[in-house]
Amino acid sequence: MQDENEVKNSICKITKLIYDKDLSDACGGNVSVRDKDRIYITPRRAGENNQFEIEPNSIIVTDLCAIPVSGDIKEISREALIHYYIYQNFPDINAVFHAHPFYIMVFGSAHKVIPTVSEATRNYLGEEPISCIEEVVPGSIEMAEKVIENFKKRRKSNPPTPALLCNLPFHGVFVASKNINHAFITLESAERNAKMLTYRKLIFENDDEVDFSIHKRLTTEERDSIEELKEVCKQGFTYRDANGNITTYKHKHIT
Ligand SMILES: [Zn+2]
Repeated sequence: MQDENEVKNSICKITKLIYDKDLSDACGGNVSVRDKDRIYITPRRAGENNQFEIEPNSIIVTDLCAIPVSGDIKEISREALIHYYIYQNFPDINAVFHAHPFYIMVFGSAHKVIPTVSEATRNYLGEEPISCIEEVVPGSIEMAEKVIENFKKRRKSNPPTPALLCNLPFHGVFVASKNINHAFITLESAERNAKMLTYRKLIFENDDEVDFSIHKRLTTEERDSIEELKEVCKQGFTYRDANGNITTYKHKHIT
């Protein structure tokens, strides 16, 4: 189990960052984290009352069914039910956000899917476009069930991706991933993906020579190779070393 204060501090930091990066507005947004058998979740109306500058001691801690461990359970986030349903259905998910990202909401306000075009978004969410759930009452069981249904569909994509994200028409998104940093990068990347599509349409709408097609799709092996440490010059390369002596590169430092 992680240190409780560390978890709470990371939630406060990410919650503020989501707002500061314009990934949500003061109307709503909530963040939760699972650490082993405990769920940490932000209090209700954190945007409206605190502009997402929340104190660590305002985070509510519960078990997987919202039985309180610490904090005021009456203050639990209005969309808490959806967070708990996600954790109960996806054992590998350890962070869930609800947010109101503007560009993704533009697509949601037209019931349009969002193709995943940026390489980062394709990496986190796969090739399957980001889709909308039906319009249902916020925070309801119906919303939880629709989000789960959407996420389960995305999980069937090949190769499977760790992150999940769906659009709530005229409202916002739910995003879930393996940890809080990964959920943040997924949300930020998906918002930029939607922004990119919006600008692409604005700038190139009347350009007959435009080419929006993706020319190279990375295989899993190619994607994994990005993480590998690589030699940065070829054998035989002559250069001045760190002590100013002319030398020829011949070592393989990295295996
Ligand atoms: Zn909302």
